[in-house]
Amino acid sequence: MDRKHSASKPPAADVRGVALLLDFGGTLDGDGIHWSPRFHEAYAATGGTTPFEAFDHAFRLALRSLGEQSDTVGLGFEETVHRLSVGLTARLADGSAVDLDTAASRFHADACAAVERNRPTLERLSSSHRIALISNFTGNLAVCVRELGVDHCFEAIVDSGRFGVSKPDARIFEEGLRRLDARAESTWMLGDNPDADILPALALGMRACWISPREREFPGETSPTARIARFPEIAGLLEGTSAP
Ligand SMILES: [Mg+2]
Repeated sequence: MDRKHSASKPPAADVRGVALLLDFGGTLDGDGIHWSPRFHEAYAATGGTTPFEAFDHAFRLALRSLGEQSDTVGLGFEETVHRLSVGLTARLADGSAVDLDTAASRFHADACAAVERNRPTLERLSSSHRIALISNFTGNLAVCVRELGVDHCFEAIVDSGRFGVSKPDARIFEEGLRRLDARAESTWMLGDNPDADILPALALGMRACWISPREREFPGETSPTARIARFPEIAGLLEGTSAP
């Protein structure tokens, strides 16, 4: 949805002609760590004992199921997280014995704190760059970012649950570029997932920045254009970038 700057700031106000495609989960709401390990940590803190691999399997199923429920499109961020915990309760061996609602609240509070911490950078960047979210989500990302109070920072939100195609498919990146009227060579992609975010963006000719804890190594032989450990570091990267 092209909700931003319809009258007040046309794309021509973009001072450097550099656009930014942003992943959401693990990029804006966490420091390069996917939802599943963060939820697992919150679950373990409330006494859950399922090892991560089995938890991750249940988490993916719960997420997929959430995307298939007809009322999910209207759910805000907090409700989305709690709905996920309900899905996990049914799918984990100790789901009924553990307080997954408390785990969800913990996950939600940490994610909100991260978004709040990242907000000044995001708002500053949105005044000088065209920014789109492209995310593998459940069709309600626009509702979620509105609830988080950062929807005004994005000129477009491409949610796989609505668009019908997920990363790493090139078409969702191309849709982000199209919605920003941006060229691949003048665009940075920032995300936490090497396979879903970084490699396809590089293949399309974008520059790609990996957000990840510093101790991790990028898998495979291809390297991202740059890497950061926390979202605010992207500002320094973009300041040194001009459109070709
Ligand atoms: Mg992500």
